Amino acid sequence: MAASVLPSSLLGSANASSGKRPNLVFVFPDQWRGQALGFLNEDPVVTPHLDAFARESLSLPQTVANYPLCSPYRGMLMSGKYSHANKVTGNCRADRAQYDVELQQDEVCWSDVLKSQGYSLGYIGKWHLDAPREPFIDANPKWNTWCPPERRHGFDYWYSYGTYNDHNRPMYWETNAGRDEYHFVDQWSPEHEANKAIDFIGNKDGTKRDSEKPFALVVAMNPPHPPYHLYPDRYRKPYADKSLEDLLVRPNVDPAHPKAEANTRDYFASVTGVDEQFGRILKALDDAGLKDDTIVVFTSDHGDCLGTHGEVSKNNPFEESMRVPFLIRWPGKIAPGSDNLLLSTPDLYPTLLDLMGFADEVPESVQGNSHAGIFRGEGGDRPSSQLYLRMSSDQPERGTRGVRTSRYKLVLEVGETGPPRRALYDLQEDPYELEDIAAARPDLVAELVRTELKPWLRKTQDPWVQHLPEVS
Ligand code: CA
Repeated sequence: MAASVLPSSLLGSANASSGKRPNLVFVFPDQWRGQALGFLNEDPVVTPHLDAFARESLSLPQTVANYPLCSPYRGMLMSGKYSHANKVTGNCRADRAQYDVELQQDEVCWSDVLKSQGYSLGYIGKWHLDAPREPFIDANPKWNTWCPPERRHGFDYWYSYGTYNDHNRPMYWETNAGRDEYHFVDQWSPEHEANKAIDFIGNKDGTKRDSEKPFALVVAMNPPHPPYHLYPDRYRKPYADKSLEDLLVRPNVDPAHPKAEANTRDYFASVTGVDEQFGRILKALDDAGLKDDTIVVFTSDHGDCLGTHGEVSKNNPFEESMRVPFLIRWPGKIAPGSDNLLLSTPDLYPTLLDLMGFADEVPESVQGNSHAGIFRGEGGDRPSSQLYLRMSSDQPERGTRGVRTSRYKLVLEVGETGPPRRALYDLQEDPYELEDIAAARPDLVAELVRTELKPWLRKTQDPWVQHLPEVS
């Protein structure tokens, strides 16, 4: 049959335009803050592989995790919907199973779309999108659980776990392992997972994926997530002789914070270690001759305050918690450079599918917007802000909402009594968020509510909208 008489729905737009569909390798270590990239000259981290990767990539340093917490980010990433719309309103834990806090089995994820378009899919590392229910498994029972095949959203190759933080002795379920058939490994988890990714990419024994098909591989490493001190000693070397002043360069961190020094030194060492393992995955693509045919993304699920603002870690609206790395490489298709696009987590789904040629396959239910045109250098509509979210799973209509524009950040927190508590920062004049100007600028609070927050709440059908009359 000649191609010209095939129904266009069978061709797919990528096939029609280029004749070849790209692979996707999506790498997202856990808790890697946007400041921790050597080439940005913010945190004093040593990341030679990411520095080299950045020279070949489009970097979006204003990318945020809208709800900077593990499962909520992952839910938004997979569903393309904001947290109140996808049911992953908090971390997947046993005590939240009663609220059905997990990725819904009938959600049409981007991976489901790629599966339906003939891709071979693999997932390696931390998943954390299933609610643990009785009978619990023995390893970290109230947080960790098995993801059965019918809940894997198209991923054929599976080497994963829910959440388990012994980085030097990680545990995994393989593709065909049953619920109680997980195994432990005596190796640093990012190194082990890089090995698995290299095996998947190379596919030398033909068992990891279908070599006739394009592939999509997710590598979800756990470090630099705590416990910070679990990493091979060799990665400590670049930081071993650095003073406290050398490490804690941000003026919004209190050097007296009890965890700041040790945590920061170890965190940076883990960053350097993951950078090296990411470099090994990139080399595997080179070795397989797949560099030009593969879109590579490096990002994270949220950042880490490491003592800034007195905060130990994440799940708050400060820059160190919200901002994440976002680098994307596709040689010859995406020009290297940097862009201040205000990218949001649910945008990743439609943007990646659009880039891969599947814009028409993005379900109507997806709330994010495609920015593929901007990635390709063609231009496109730019969001004027990003939504911030934090909620409890029993009352998603309460909690905190906010907006981050290219200049301001407004945060509104619903308390037990009274109107929502306000905080406002001028990121241009005060990039370290040291001065809350909400009380001094009620006009600006009202304007940001009217022009940014309200449209977001309407667009995402957020029940938090009921609190708006209390704000103005
Ligand atoms: Ca996380």
